[in-house]
Amino acid sequence: MERPVTEADLTFDHVPETDQSFENALTKARAGDRLTVDDAIELLTTGTEIGGIDSTRKEQVLEAADRRRADVVGEEVTFVANLNNNVTTACNVGCLFCNFKDAAHTFERDTEIQSAGFTKTPSESREIVADAVSRGVYEVTSVSGLHPAFALDDEHREILEAHPDPKAVNYKPPEAYEIDPGTYTDQISAMSVDGVHVHSMTPEEGYHARRGTDWSYEEVYSRLAAAGLDTVPGTAAEILVDEVRDVICPGKISTEGWLEAMEAAANVGLGLTATIMYGHVENEAHRAMHLKRVRDLQERVDGAITEFVPLSFVHQNTPLYEHDVVSGGASTDEDELMIAVSRLFLDNIDHIQSSWVKYGDEQGLKMLSCGADDFMGTILSEEITKRAGGEYGEYRSFADYVDLVTSIGRVPVERSTDYETRRVIDPDEPPFGPRLGPKSDGTPILTPEERAPPADD
Ligand code: SF4
Repeated sequence: MERPVTEADLTFDHVPETDQSFENALTKARAGDRLTVDDAIELLTTGTEIGGIDSTRKEQVLEAADRRRADVVGEEVTFVANLNNNVTTACNVGCLFCNFKDAAHTFERDTEIQSAGFTKTPSESREIVADAVSRGVYEVTSVSGLHPAFALDDEHREILEAHPDPKAVNYKPPEAYEIDPGTYTDQISAMSVDGVHVHSMTPEEGYHARRGTDWSYEEVYSRLAAAGLDTVPGTAAEILVDEVRDVICPGKISTEGWLEAMEAAANVGLGLTATIMYGHVENEAHRAMHLKRVRDLQERVDGAITEFVPLSFVHQNTPLYEHDVVSGGASTDEDELMIAVSRLFLDNIDHIQSSWVKYGDEQGLKMLSCGADDFMGTILSEEITKRAGGEYGEYRSFADYVDLVTSIGRVPVERSTDYETRRVIDPDEPPFGPRLGPKSDGTPILTPEERAPPADD
């Protein structure tokens, strides 16, 4: 049972107060000077001396960020042909902002409780990815719950099996569960089909893959890379300030742990992305500190972070909302300022992503004029291709992308995960489909029939 969050937990040491002025911070941002945490706080709040957000100042910040975006990356809006293949929703970490997990015991053989979640075997993952690769996807993204039966590989399983107190390291053998997820390396090599790019193993998953051992993150990530892992998603970052993590995800790795795992992944040659999940209990000081930690990390990993993804907290169905710790998420003004200040502050990360899943289409597009230049990916999923159940998940076709991006006068560009390979799409030459994937030939990912709702819907 989670401990309830108290008022005292929400009294933070870091608060949005500075000796800087909004005007000075804006002048520095316009000039392209490197911003400090105090500058970022002034820009995120549109001035700490006033209450609420000033709309004129906000527009000034957005304008500076949009200009910076144009200088750094021009008018291209990129997206990737990708598949989401999450392996399991079983998780006991208990993050208070999460609506993805299902308690791991509901997946056990002996339970009476019907689990609402899913676990896929490695061969199921392979089949799903193979189908998506044949449809033209370039990348498979896979982020999962921390299933207690997961081990890094056979050697790790032996260590966990021999552990004197498996519960203390959140381990239960696969036999206890209805479905065996295999090991992390089994899953990664199963998903590594025909050279598709595998984007998986967040720092939190990296931690789970070494629990109960004294292995370094380098050891873990090099074994994963050998199994076919290409890049690491920098999710699980939430807010990289421990006084916030202690409230929203006390069971998760610390700020230090997250940074250590990311640095180790880069050290063994893996590319990275980075995120922030904001709009819950944190304040603008925390957001600014988070940006600083990501910018510093980017220096240490020599530019391995290809994109930064601001993720606005979606409060519905989360313990934070259900227990009245928060009454909602970030406002639209806060969302726009988060994108803009990310662009202005992170002068060593070229790409800022606008997540249409979090912001919706209209606001997602607007973010492309607030400093963002990447518009995520197709997010194909098994649910979409198989039309299982009533939930089809979310999917964006190349034709949708061409329509959306050209509607704001920008240039639609298909990209690889690392942005190194790009293809400008000519809006006058339909049909639109991916061309960068190992088996793509420009054919749309789904046929018109597959995209149309079923007759009985
Ligand atoms: S570790 Fe991930 S899946 Fe598990 S509760 Fe936290 S956010 Fe949810």
